[in-house]
Amino acid sequence: MKIVLVAEYRDGKLLAGYGELLGFAKAFGGETVMVAFGNENELPAYDGKLYLGDTASCGEYNPDLHKKMILEVVDKEGADMVVFSHSSYGWDLAPRVACSLGAAQVSEVVELKDKTLVVPVCNAKLRRDVKCSTAQTVVTLQAGAFTPIESGGTPTVETISTDVSGRVIFEGYEEAEAGGVDLSKAEVIVSAGRGIGKPENVALIESLAKALGGEYGASRPVVDSEWVEHNRQVGTTGQTVSPKLYVACGISGAIQHLAGMKKSEFVVAINTDKDAPIGEVADVLVVADLLQFVPALTEKVEAL
Ligand SMILES: Cc1cc2nc3c(=O)[nH]c(=O)nc-3n(C[C@H](O)[C@H](O)[C@H](O)COP(=O)(O)OP(=O)(O)OC[C@H]3O[C@@H](n4cnc5c(N)ncnc54)[C@H](O)[C@@H]3O)c2cc1C
Repeated sequence: MKIVLVAEYRDGKLLAGYGELLGFAKAFGGETVMVAFGNENELPAYDGKLYLGDTASCGEYNPDLHKKMILEVVDKEGADMVVFSHSSYGWDLAPRVACSLGAAQVSEVVELKDKTLVVPVCNAKLRRDVKCSTAQTVVTLQAGAFTPIESGGTPTVETISTDVSGRVIFEGYEEAEAGGVDLSKAEVIVSAGRGIGKPENVALIESLAKALGGEYGASRPVVDSEWVEHNRQVGTTGQTVSPKLYVACGISGAIQHLAGMKKSEFVVAINTDKDAPIGEVADVLVVADLLQFVPALTEKVEAL
């Protein structure tokens, strides 16, 4: 089994997600090579072979040309699998590569059961086990689903370039407009999940956050319901946070939420369900109705 891992650079900076690709490859089993389009002054801690795209000829982001060069590497290496992060870069490229190879494409893999790929369906309420019948497979990995590893060392770099021009012209990145609160700097975050029940109860979460001297956040359903603004969403499609204290109120602990908060130093979860998955990352799981527990806790904190 030969696996091609596609690492990512953004504005010349290597993104940390390559460690999760290595973690996946180790769990799946196989020999790896890496491809990336970036900067030779900033290389992954990887002791294998790295095909480094010459960004002067192919740009840092150019799905057309990157696809072409990834296909050349797949061909040269006789690869069976190509692995991307489930990022906007991966979403863009993976289906193009899969289509050209006639390979199965499996998006947003969150778990491996031996060689079976597990992906979420029905807004992550269910999971589907996928086995591919094609000779080659292209997958994207959900952020935070696989434990990152670094093999260490320095890769053997082979530079790849192209003399054709793509149909797509990459003009640069534009940062999303920063607005509202920057949760990534908060030392205490109290987050509201669907368990708060109705928009009026956001005030309970806000009060506890204020009493603790922190900010309040939310899970995606709370944001999708427009109970809390999007810039307070925690998770893969929201902010990634690492406060000293994270209090998850009525949040089940879906992988997309955990990916955004699991680097928190100390996690308290308040949930009526003692078996909620958030319990797996929580230092303290309070099995209680948040509508009673949160106001009582706020009162105690305020008294202190
Ligand atoms: C592509 C994609 C991206 C996503 N990105 C994100 C993201 O960035 N962030 C994110 O959060 N989600 C994201 N999601 C959604 C994610 O899969 C989950 O659906 C979501 O995190 C669930 O939110 P929740 O825990 O608030 O709600 P639920 O899963 O419905 O959980 C509610 C919890 O509240 C508990 N509860 C109910 N009543 C009470 C009460 N009175 N007191 C205490 N506990 C109570 C229940 O036991 C339950 O555990 C994404 C999904 C997809 C497919």
